[in-house]
Amino acid sequence: MSERVIPLIDQRTAALSPPAAAFDSSTRVSANGLLADQLGRPLRDLRISVTDRCNFRCNYCMPKDVFDKDYPYLPHSALLSFEEITRVARLFVAHGVSKIRLTGGEPLLRKNIEILIEQLAALRTLEGRPLDLTLTTNGSLLKRKAQSLKDAGLQRITVSLDGLDDAVFRHMNDVDFPVSDVLEGIEAAKAAGLGPIKINMVVKRGTNDDQILPMVRHFRGTGMVLRFIEYMDVGATNGWRMDEVLPSSELVQRIHREVPLVQLEPSAPGETAQRWGFANAQGGHDVAAGEIGVISSVTQAFCHDCNRARLSTEGHLYLCLFANQGHDLRSLIRQGASDADIASAIGHIWQARGDRYSELRSALPADTGSNSARRVEMSYIGG
Ligand code: SAM
Ligand code: SF4
Ligand code: SF4
Repeated sequence: MSERVIPLIDQRTAALSPPAAAFDSSTRVSANGLLADQLGRPLRDLRISVTDRCNFRCNYCMPKDVFDKDYPYLPHSALLSFEEITRVARLFVAHGVSKIRLTGGEPLLRKNIEILIEQLAALRTLEGRPLDLTLTTNGSLLKRKAQSLKDAGLQRITVSLDGLDDAVFRHMNDVDFPVSDVLEGIEAAKAAGLGPIKINMVVKRGTNDDQILPMVRHFRGTGMVLRFIEYMDVGATNGWRMDEVLPSSELVQRIHREVPLVQLEPSAPGETAQRWGFANAQGGHDVAAGEIGVISSVTQAFCHDCNRARLSTEGHLYLCLFANQGHDLRSLIRQGASDADIASAIGHIWQARGDRYSELRSALPADTGSNSARRVEMSYIGG
């Protein structure tokens, strides 16, 4: 029997310690919402991964041959507790974060996630407003959980759905999960008032690109925003190849030939999706028909206004989706650091940030840049 090699170097324990200057009273950074990184980018958006486990095995994210029963998932004690997450989140909010997205792995697998949502929903931005609090899910547990998530204070939700055809969908999730259950979950989210709902579709050329038009027709006029994501070279296990990426420009042309589109203005700075509205007979935007979004993470870098930080399942702070090292906030918390110390550490880490991987990608060797074997997995830091 041949031995299987897991092409993954476990980066989860190799986090950096916050810089000593963060704890010196003369160089302390306090939270006042004015933080900027080396490229002048503010900190506004925090993505929190609440579990590294998932019940799907999408092969662009958690390929079955790597994420099998022997995969070393984190033990429960390594995970940040809800109290720890809320404490850190409050400090990020004091630094100017106004949007928090819960992700994973599959966030709805984290037991009692509603309790965390309740705690986060009670936070207020620097302007005194509730946070933009959302969650990205594969939708498998949504039918059961939509109402309790809403009751806990979740405002809106993003559901990942890679096709409408049942065979294609089962192939994409690789655990034979039926598409009808996710569609029922989406309906339950709508009925519970979790809106506006976004639907994320990762497109892999030759695998699910025949689902683009059926998805457009299905979600047009429903008030839900369908967003197409270019298949990205995240992590080190998905065997990414450029020829499986369908560039957004080609995708928009394909849709436009059948269902005319008009380009719309970005809705907010740092917005990852480019917006396209469905056109009316006069060539204007048919507002009732709605819009789609395209996220061109591979072909069109949007690092220049990237205001996102990511907190991994075990409390490591990542400054870029493609980073190969995080900064260990959990040790700080568990060593008894004060709020001022933790806020200062976050401040120092953000001020030193110069990440712009997507912009630099074109200069890296194709497919397997030297950095790729060490990148952390998407399921660990969240999308
Ligand atoms: N399990 C949840 C889900 O699937 O929605 C949340 C976590 S998942 C890592 C977050 C998002 O990342 C999903 O929309 C997923 O499709 C996307 N994603 C994962 N791997 C990707 C890849 N290689 N390229 C592009 N998007 C990816
Ligand atoms: Fe699970 Fe989401 Fe990754 Fe698919 S994309 S394997 S649902 S974490
Ligand atoms: Fe932000 Fe990194 Fe993505 Fe650029 S590559 S947009 S810096 S997460």
